[in-house]
Amino acid sequence: MKLGAIEAGGTKFVCGITDENGHILERVSFPTETPELTLQKVYNFFKNKNVEAIGVGSFGPIDPNPNSETYGYITQTPKKYWSNFNLIGELQRNLNVPMAFDTDVNAAALGEATWGIAKGLENCLYLTIGTGIGGGILVSGNLVHGMLHPEMGHILTRRHPEDTYKGKCPFHKDCFEGLASGPAIEERWGVKAYELSNEHKAWEFEAYYIAQALVNYILTISPEKIILGGGVMKQLQLFPLIRKNVKELLNNYVQTKEILKNIDEYIVPPKLGDNAGLLGCIALAITL
Ligand code: ADP
Ligand code: ZN
Repeated sequence: MKLGAIEAGGTKFVCGITDENGHILERVSFPTETPELTLQKVYNFFKNKNVEAIGVGSFGPIDPNPNSETYGYITQTPKKYWSNFNLIGELQRNLNVPMAFDTDVNAAALGEATWGIAKGLENCLYLTIGTGIGGGILVSGNLVHGMLHPEMGHILTRRHPEDTYKGKCPFHKDCFEGLASGPAIEERWGVKAYELSNEHKAWEFEAYYIAQALVNYILTISPEKIILGGGVMKQLQLFPLIRKNVKELLNNYVQTKEILKNIDEYIVPPKLGDNAGLLGCIALAITL
């Protein structure tokens, strides 16, 4: 059986085809341009490929509610050309196969729970820290949507006492994303994030904010594993700093072995690496 994946990112689209076990048979990637230009490339890729279903994981905000009139839309995004765009409607019209639709981060959470570092777990959290910050949540084996879908990047965090940076979020200025996204780091310090040395103060600030967010998520949804992906998390020195801050903030309040004994296996990088998004979409397609 052949399954298709469409990872619709704000910067690039990735399309792929796998078998039912997630073995990748084909994969392409191209920059996100206007919907017309971008989707034409998607159609060309899937032409005559005979996939049985396609999973679509998209940048947001999106409408993932099948009972809603705007199901399948990318809704109010600041991204030029894509606001209120009927993504699933257009894809369906041209590709005519069953499609599953969710946020890119929910797809990544499901992919990691199916084939990756959270394999076999029914409760996990996938957080990406890149151009923006967003999270996907699996609870009791189900992806969380609720009223819309979680927007975990925009929670409020306490400021680092030495941080005077105003914040980058166009809606809230110094929410978590406003203080800790890749672009926030770069504006605060005036250099590319990958140019900062491992010992730079930037990472102390970064771990301080990420740990607070994780503590809030741990206390609210009690995930069995927390997976941190996205460009900023390529700075692997952040992991021990984040784990230490999480333990200090929780202060022995949550008495689980995951936190007290095995935190190195609790807060972890993704296992599926650059294929996390693609395989997440395949995992979505399998749910159909
Ligand atoms: P996107 O969020 O657009 O899907 P990424 O997750 O790759 O893509 O995030 C891109 C952002 O992550 C960049 O704007 C940059 O700020 C940051 N970034 C990328 N690579 C690194 C790196 N090696 N170290 C630190 N920050 C990085
Ligand atoms: Zn915000």
